[in-house]
Amino acid sequence: MKCPNAGLPAPPSDPASVPAQPGDQQRLWAPWRMRYVGGSGESGCVFCRRLADRDDVRSLILHRGRHAFAIMNLYPYNTGHLMLVPNEHVAGPEQAAPEALAEMAALVPPTLRALRRVLRCDGFNIGINVGADAGAGVADHLHEHVVPRWEGDANFMPILAGTTVMPELIPATYAKVRADLERELGGSDEVVCVIVNAGRDRVLAKEGEDGWRLPRAVAGPEEALWQAARRAVDRVVGEAELVGWAGARETTKAGGGLAFAVPEGAALAAGARWLALPAGDVLGEDAPMVADLVDDGAIGGAGR
Ligand SMILES: [Zn+2]
Repeated sequence: MKCPNAGLPAPPSDPASVPAQPGDQQRLWAPWRMRYVGGSGESGCVFCRRLADRDDVRSLILHRGRHAFAIMNLYPYNTGHLMLVPNEHVAGPEQAAPEALAEMAALVPPTLRALRRVLRCDGFNIGINVGADAGAGVADHLHEHVVPRWEGDANFMPILAGTTVMPELIPATYAKVRADLERELGGSDEVVCVIVNAGRDRVLAKEGEDGWRLPRAVAGPEEALWQAARRAVDRVVGEAELVGWAGARETTKAGGGLAFAVPEGAALAAGARWLALPAGDVLGEDAPMVADLVDDGAIGGAGR
């Protein structure tokens, strides 16, 4: 995407399909490439395949609409870099259905509101590259980039240096943005907190009238859901790290929340009201997802 702003170097190519880079970028991002893209064996259209795969957490799909979806970029220029994509495999706006273009446009305001609240960014670059010659890495499936910007971030946005320094891991950013985008698109101001122990087999809950209850938090109008969750988690267990999304894997299914994990060696402190219960009992079929957070290297992984 050619950036009209002075001072920001033009990226070398579309980040949706940036090949392995030498040096630091490869070292930093190789685990994610293997985990999410399937190494060099990934073939076909990356957007179509992820849309067909119903595991939105692993695919980094933030929202599924009727004609378009939002997906986080695996090779972000900046934290929170995401893309708005028509469901239909079309190369450019002139082939896209009007409904898809309308839905992509309609997704921009809620996306910006969610990103601004979650990341406290100062601005955005929004743009589409049509065709490989214009810089589109995935040239045959239209996608619109939304890149959060911070004052002075060009100073440490080292595209030309071949390194991408991200202040947090993608699963944590995904969880934060998904929570607030859902909220923008008709969800509530309340968020569920899934707090797991270091072994990821126990979760903090208490018995409610109709089953187990997890800690919850309500965010203020200007507050991101993850910040409200952070406050609630601090009250319950003290030290814990946001590690990703726990709950419904598909964005179209209700339920889910932000997963926090206590550090290695620390007990899942259970107060008088909260019990450290087997994850399978409380989370049911969502329990394996908590274990996945470990497999994905979200705990103490690269960049920490
Ligand atoms: Zn496609």
